[in-house]
Amino acid sequence: MFDKFRDECGVFGIFGHPEASNHAYLGLYALQHRGQESAGIAASDGQIVRVSRAMGYVNEAFDTASLAKLPGRMAVGHVRYSTAGESRIANAQPILIDSVHGQLAVAHNGNIVNASELRDALVRLGAIFQATTDTEVIVHLFARSREEGPEAAIVDALSQVRGAYSLVLMTKDRLIGARDPHGFRPLAIGRLGDAWVICSETCAMDLIGATYLRDVEPGEVVVISEQGLKSIRPFTPAPKAQCIFEHVYFSRPDSYVFGESVNEVRTEFGRKLAHESGVEADVIVPIPDSGVCAAIGFSEASGIPMRMGLIRNHYVGRTFIEPQQSIRHFGVRVKLNPVRSILEGQRVVLVDDSIVRGTTSRKIVRMVRSAGAREVHMRISCPPTISPCFYGVDTPRRSELIAATHTLEEIRKYLNADSVAYLSMDGMTGAVRGGKQSYCTSCYTGVYPVAFPRDEEAYLQLALKLNPDAEELDLPITIPDLEKDPVAR
Ligand code: SF4
Repeated sequence: MFDKFRDECGVFGIFGHPEASNHAYLGLYALQHRGQESAGIAASDGQIVRVSRAMGYVNEAFDTASLAKLPGRMAVGHVRYSTAGESRIANAQPILIDSVHGQLAVAHNGNIVNASELRDALVRLGAIFQATTDTEVIVHLFARSREEGPEAAIVDALSQVRGAYSLVLMTKDRLIGARDPHGFRPLAIGRLGDAWVICSETCAMDLIGATYLRDVEPGEVVVISEQGLKSIRPFTPAPKAQCIFEHVYFSRPDSYVFGESVNEVRTEFGRKLAHESGVEADVIVPIPDSGVCAAIGFSEASGIPMRMGLIRNHYVGRTFIEPQQSIRHFGVRVKLNPVRSILEGQRVVLVDDSIVRGTTSRKIVRMVRSAGAREVHMRISCPPTISPCFYGVDTPRRSELIAATHTLEEIRKYLNADSVAYLSMDGMTGAVRGGKQSYCTSCYTGVYPVAFPRDEEAYLQLALKLNPDAEELDLPITIPDLEKDPVAR
């Protein structure tokens, strides 16, 4: 919403419930923050898998009549924001195919970094692609697999892809969850009575009354059938690289992600930020909604009261149209409004989760000053974002990331703040279980755990090397050597 990294996708699956598609609808509703471009549900009655997909929000994509056409005790669902591939209905998920291994519905969160080369190879072998997503590569590999049966064919397909995937897949009688060996994106398992649920975030379980059991582990494939849950670990183990940005911004604070409460992690980011970069001030003001948890932690640790000095308009939709030329340039004020009674004459600490381009932060500082703040100090609950993501998150070009191209003092001047401070890398990774050994932090370091071919950059729309200015930056991009680093393969 405000100059942020864009969310990726949300996935949901349920097995063994008479109202499977209705529950998938509700689950997707809870995961709406992970993708707003399209929504889809596939359901199986044990014999036939049917799918319905549409552009738009979940509540626009489905109604009672369309859900009634998805009968059965199993369903998988997907909300999409396009990280790879264009925004069009052909790219909406779940993808449903019929093959020699039977029907397969696939819902994917993540990004396959070798999708382009696999796709080229498949096209040379005669494969015909209908969409432009990396996910379609997985279904082609599945359909062409010579392994016996759908489970073995899925493992065969996944063993050929590199990168980030948390998948829910469905055959006519099985629900399958799979997470890549690094575990970039989250995937949780829960129970709803006798039914099983697999989804991106536990907030989807809360809405339908399911209980969170555990995560699908990195490199694990779980197969749920009438016989219960079977776990297999068919891939070579790899170092964990869970996306730390899920805790910083993407996931809902009421979710458990990677086994930890997002709210607690985010609040701890704020506490650590206060310890590292405290400042004399009168009031802590979160930038809603993303800065609230960290601001609570900052306030707790600093002893400075937190107040809602900025109010967000929750009813600004995707299609806000400025009504008339003469009253244009509402800018950020359409979405946020300052509370003068809280800000006037005060030394204010603004707390937000991240700065991407800096344009919105600059407008917010100006707005807070215009409401009478005496001083404005900006505190950010993660380190400076200096590099794009290749693992399923839409990020601007590196040249557009303000922290990649400006010093801290230059950022302070640009924002017109009295001071600016970010949480340190140690502060961030010290707030999560497993620390830096368990997390991907590439967008803060430029060091990537999984190699991507150079020509993938264009495919990923990130244009790291297409931008001539990016070459001139004195910030290292470390890409593992494919020959020397077996893990990166
Ligand atoms: S690069 Fe950043 S956003 Fe992408 S997976 Fe790693 S931590 Fe997450």
